[in-house]
Amino acid sequence: MKFICDRMLGKLATWLRISGYDTVYVGELRLNNRRKEDTFILNSFRDRILLTRDRELFRRCMSAGREAVFIKSEFVAGQIKELIERGIEFRIVMERCSVCNSPLRKPEDHEVRRVLVKEGISEDFREKYEFWYCERCDKLYWMGSHWRNMVDFLERING
Ligand SMILES: [Zn+2]
Repeated sequence: MKFICDRMLGKLATWLRISGYDTVYVGELRLNNRRKEDTFILNSFRDRILLTRDRELFRRCMSAGREAVFIKSEFVAGQIKELIERGIEFRIVMERCSVCNSPLRKPEDHEVRRVLVKEGISEDFREKYEFWYCERCDKLYWMGSHWRNMVDFLERING
């Protein structure tokens, strides 16, 4: 399942990536004509399910035979719940960069050292954690306190 999220759903796009889904976020596309954005979305990325909070855009998708989901909730927890009700699973899988959507891979040791130095993070992190790496962002992921908070957040949503 692949998705495209409209401009109002940036946080939801991040959560979909964290859960491993290939997700385009319209807010990152640098479209130069905002007035024609809806028409662009309607006609592009047609292999992706469009998630939108815009009722009019949703209607246009339906009449064009484009697969789309209208998201009712204003808040990301509610938005995630709506998708869970549709059978979409949210769990933290370390497969995709939450920033740029690229697939993550296991880093080389020298890459871990370099990025930790760059980020000003203590070297002893290397023994404490397992890492995943986004080549495009030059960014490391690990299951630290931020990860724990995200797990708790999802557990609360799932009840
Ligand atoms: Zn990235």
